[in-house]
Amino acid sequence: MRTTLSQEANHFRRFLPASGIRRIFDRAKEIEASGCPVLHLEIGRPDYSQPFGAVQSAQEAMDAGLVHYIANRGLPELREAMAEDIHASAGIDFDPGTEIIVTTGASEALSMVALALLGPGDEVIIPEPAWSHYRAVVQMAGATTVALSLAGAGRGFVLDPEELAKVITDKTRMIVLNTPGNPSGAVQPPDVLREVARLAMKHGIFVFSDEVYKDFVYEGEHVSIGAFMADSDRFIYVNSLSKSYAMTGWRIGYVAARAEVSDALNRIHQYLTVCGVAFAQKGAVQALRGPRRQEYLAGMRKAFQDRRRIWQDAWADCSGFQCAAPGGAFYLFPRIDYRDMNAREFCNFMLDEHQVAMVPGDVFGDAYDHHVRISFGRDLSTQEAAAERLIGVINAG
Ligand code: PLP
Repeated sequence: MRTTLSQEANHFRRFLPASGIRRIFDRAKEIEASGCPVLHLEIGRPDYSQPFGAVQSAQEAMDAGLVHYIANRGLPELREAMAEDIHASAGIDFDPGTEIIVTTGASEALSMVALALLGPGDEVIIPEPAWSHYRAVVQMAGATTVALSLAGAGRGFVLDPEELAKVITDKTRMIVLNTPGNPSGAVQPPDVLREVARLAMKHGIFVFSDEVYKDFVYEGEHVSIGAFMADSDRFIYVNSLSKSYAMTGWRIGYVAARAEVSDALNRIHQYLTVCGVAFAQKGAVQALRGPRRQEYLAGMRKAFQDRRRIWQDAWADCSGFQCAAPGGAFYLFPRIDYRDMNAREFCNFMLDEHQVAMVPGDVFGDAYDHHVRISFGRDLSTQEAAAERLIGVINAG
């Protein structure tokens, strides 16, 4: 007998649950609509200004008629600027003509990689806690996710290559790496990256390296795993202008890989979106090459550091809020001990009773049902008010 539409819809809801971050955001909006302001710590969006000249450049391009289809891979000058950026931050050279594609955000790059390289029978190792899209998209491609928990004793969400080696099988097709990471803010150190690269190359496994937070490293410099896989055709570099340039709505991402892989990705891209938004790409060139770029990035990094400091001071004497200071990105991922509540109960309670919106940790991995993700993307005064309210509630027990 044929399944009914409602059976199919139920199957789909189970298979692909709605985004846990959106669920909280929508609930927060409902509360706001009823006249109660909410402190937003749930959305991973920097509240910073647009980079100098980017808006003007996109507007001029639109006026000048850059409103039609462009090359599938994107504007050549943008790909060149991206190649320069990858060279500067990861020390690897990619050919803008054959190895770089401008995508509709890093999100499209993830879908392209999954559709081009994954299928039933393939396993993808995802160190958790992790951005929830990885799991969803890998499963949409029919492949199997293998969670590698980073919850292990006292490592501050740093990957243990020995644990990684234990979950590699002959079906492992890809490892996802995201440093600095969402939601933990953890920065994977160079010796770990070197070892992950060695294992990947030894077993012929792709490394999907999501570096969207590379410009937010608070101690030392960002190191890409690509530095240890420069000539390997198994390395896939993904980035975006969403976080570094506060351009989430522009939907500009990029994926770089050796030519054969890049060609496969481009074929998927042609059928998914044809090309990215033409005039937005002109503005993106300005963001990447603008004269005040370094100043802009340093300013944003400093703003995040100040917000991080607010939280560190606030949680110093709070035993119910256990957190490692994040080395990068703009998130905290504390374990919360409050009246035997799990993360969902605690997040609902804080939103409904105290108007503070946060994301429950189990959205980022099953092992984290007592953690919450706090984004410090919003301004300093939001962080001050939220830290006082949240820590006050936990301390009052
Ligand atoms: N990768 C990570 C780790 C993220 O946290 C996010 C957004 O939150 C993205 C990718 C999505 O980036 P984009 O806006 O470029 O699609």
